[in-house]
Amino acid sequence: MALHDFRCASCGYILRDHNVPIALGARRGAPSCPCSLSTTMDWVPQLGSFDAFTAFTADVNGTPTQIDSLHTLRAVERETERKFRDGIGQPLVWRDLSQNSSNRDVNSFGPSPQPTFETHNRRGIPFITRRDGRPLNGE
Ligand SMILES: [Zn+2]
Repeated sequence: MALHDFRCASCGYILRDHNVPIALGARRGAPSCPCSLSTTMDWVPQLGSFDAFTAFTADVNGTPTQIDSLHTLRAVERETERKFRDGIGQPLVWRDLSQNSSNRDVNSFGPSPQPTFETHNRRGIPFITRRDGRPLNGE
């Protein structure tokens, strides 16, 4: 099974992530539209970055580097990450080649840099209290 998107030519309804058997294929496995069961929806090709990789030249910490495949790109990402840990340059991540709609909220460089604050001490007592000493979130 593979997930495909379909669009109705007559009403414009878009059906996302519809499961179609791989043996059947996306065009032959197109479902009929809810507006009219006789209308077969059109397949919307997913032209993701992995389908057609276009070679490009990137500035890798001051050195022009030819990126000709995803393999080269991941190698450059790992290398810049390793050098950054050693204190050389900046880590590089090509977000458009690493993320899609399923993980767009995930930070490319590991855990979120957003600071977190302790609101309770290790005994579970809140740091912020009323003037009389009772906790704010207590009764
Ligand atoms: Zn329709």
